[in-house]
Parts: sequence; C-alpha cells; structure tokens
Amino acid sequence: MHLEGSCHCGKVKFSLEANSPVPFMHCHCSICRKTAGSGGYAINLGGAAGTMKVRGAKHLGVYHAVLREPGRRATRSKAGRRFCKECGSALWLWDPRWPELVHPHASAIDTPLPKPPEVVEAALDFAPDWIDVPKGKGHVHCGTWPGESLEAWHQRHGLWSG
Ligand SMILES: [Zn+2]
Ligand SMILES: [Zn+2]
Repeated sequence: MHLEGSCHCGKVKFSLEANSPVPFMHCHCSICRKTAGSGGYAINLGGAAGTMKVRGAKHLGVYHAVLREPGRRATRSKAGRRFCKECGSALWLWDPRWPELVHPHASAIDTPLPKPPEVVEAALDFAPDWIDVPKGKGHVHCGTWPGESLEAWHQRHGLWSG
C-alpha cells in the first residue's frame, strides 16, 4: 500500500510502500507515550525502507531513547525516532538492526488507513493508572509486546500485501 505522510507544520513530507499498513498495535510504553502519544499510545506501521522518499529532511531530528532497566546498565537504543524539529511531530522509527524496514507513526500518515479488525493494547505494564485502556471485544491486552511480528499479524488476518 502506498502511504503519504507529513508533520503538522508541513516542512517534512514523506512517502513509502507499506505491506503492514493496518494500525492495530497501540503501544503504551513510556517512550511512545512521552515522544508521540501523551494520552496513552502511539501506533507504528511497517513499510519498506528502500521505497521511502523524504522532502524537507533538513528539518528532521533523531532521538535515540536511553533504556533503563532495573539492575542493568543504561543503554542507548539503536532505534532512531525521527521527528520534525520545527513542530515536534513524531514521524517514523528506523532501526539499523532491521535496515530494510521502516516504521512510520500512523499519526503522521495522511493516506486513509484500513480500520483494524482487532487491536492489540501493548506494553500495558508501562501504562500509568490514569489511562483508560480500551477493553472488550476486539481488544487484546498484552503486558509487554506480542511475540507476533507486524507482518505475522497482517498475514494471520489476510491483510499482508507483500
Ligand atoms: Zn513540522
Ligand atoms: Zn512504544
């Protein structure tokens, strides 16, 4: 699926081909909440990094989160989170460990996206108490992240276009 995206101020525009375009996974982790979600979640899609075209790249910033786990040394995440330096919009995540993939935030996409038949509420162990997590039919709750990849989820639902 061809996706077009942009930041809020319009200085950065991008496009890519995505075979995992369904916004099904709400991430409640603290990095997503603070950098992209505030109200409780951010949603990553899966696309092909080699197809990505960017206009206004000079306005991009990149953030590597520092991961702090109890009893372990703090480490800098290899994943780079791109954002617009002018307006702060979170745009996409790219990780050199999986260089062929790129993960745009659903919030930055302007192309109408398919509505997910099932939503995974992920990383709930990190969600603060004030967040009203959607539950009931169509919502799967996950303390951390599902073992299933974005691609495997799309394939299981017959929605993968690879
Ligand atoms: Zn902007
Ligand atoms: Zn997250």
